[in-house]
Amino acid sequence: MTLYESYEDMPKINNLSQDDIFISDSTIRDGSQMPGIVMTREFKIKCYEYLHKIGIEKVEAFVFNKREIDAVKTMLDIGYECPVVTGWARAVPADIDKVLAVDGLHETGILMSVSDSHIFAKMRLSGRQQAEEKYLNALQYAVDHGLKTRAHLEDMTRADNPGFTYPLVKKILEIDPNCIIRICDTVGYGLPFEQFGEPYSVPSMVQSLKKIGAKNIETHIHDDYGLGAANSLSGYLAGANWTSVTFLGIGERAGNTGMEKILLFLADRVEGFKKYNLSCLTEFAHYMEKSIGIKLPSNKPVVGRNVFAHESGIHASGVLKNPFIYEAYPPELVGGERFVLLGDSSGLDSVKHKVEETMRELLNIDIKINKTDPRLKKIQDEIQSLYDNELRTSCISDEELVYYVEKYFLNRPIREGEEEVTF
Ligand SMILES: [Zn+2]
Repeated sequence: MTLYESYEDMPKINNLSQDDIFISDSTIRDGSQMPGIVMTREFKIKCYEYLHKIGIEKVEAFVFNKREIDAVKTMLDIGYECPVVTGWARAVPADIDKVLAVDGLHETGILMSVSDSHIFAKMRLSGRQQAEEKYLNALQYAVDHGLKTRAHLEDMTRADNPGFTYPLVKKILEIDPNCIIRICDTVGYGLPFEQFGEPYSVPSMVQSLKKIGAKNIETHIHDDYGLGAANSLSGYLAGANWTSVTFLGIGERAGNTGMEKILLFLADRVEGFKKYNLSCLTEFAHYMEKSIGIKLPSNKPVVGRNVFAHESGIHASGVLKNPFIYEAYPPELVGGERFVLLGDSSGLDSVKHKVEETMRELLNIDIKINKTDPRLKKIQDEIQSLYDNELRTSCISDEELVYYVEKYFLNRPIREGEEEVTF
């Protein structure tokens, strides 16, 4: 018999090794394309600092205008070993020249759209043959100028991969056997299940690329169907060594795979995976919220305000006994904080916990109250009555708790008219 009573008791996933898989950040590249946000140079540098703290291996950035170039140069001047700063180019020598013009950039992604709608309707090329020539010429140009390369196979999950993409990849690998082959799930059509095959199955695509000799395979997934993290992980499990992500999943439309989800999965569920430091994730999320004006939903996985908030009687009482009962992982792992809220579904355990907490803050001493103390029930009844007419929709604030604690536990004289106070 196996008892699962604590985090330590839970079996870990053990077929991924931290030595074989890496994370590439696109927050300041793909993320910057999110409608409505503007990233300043200061923001980009701060992101670079956070990525360094976490231990992310690589970051990609545009270098098309002065602001972008200045930000990249500042990162290169700071010069952390990780993340390695890399560039991004369309498949034209002029773009690759822009990467080459920045001293210290040694790698570039090259955009190679592989779906027919991108080849014909977007780029207005005469056909696949012309597209292939364009891509291989650009790749050769980058290699000839000493750059490491990534082939960004745009819209691969809607492309004729056996008919076009795989033959193209064979030729790419002839030019640069170490080229990182990026599976771009550009509109989120990818699926994390092997049985669906081409052109949707991310694990099948990874396996096909391995078969034709790709040593470095990266997934880059958009979250239109909410399958971003699942697809990135399925890529790793099938043998991809990289995934490209953005912090909080920011990006165009529904965004990209959220870095924080991948980090949490690897750090918390995979055996021996210790190389990333997640303790600044919550702080990083708040920084993003504050500085680029995005609003984090309170139920956002990993960094949302509610991830460690407990209100309902059964849940709060469980967590107060042992957090393992209703929390997936300890808040400290991601720099979060557990708190109990009092609201319409709160039980006596929560009232007791909040009263003790409030008394600790008011008097600076630890006081344990017996759960059967009738004053707790009175507070609970009073709180319930606030919700009886269904007009109150918010939780009980800290100020209100002070009022109840003073009223029932600190014998504050009731002032005239106070019974009628409502919040
Ligand atoms: Zn993208």
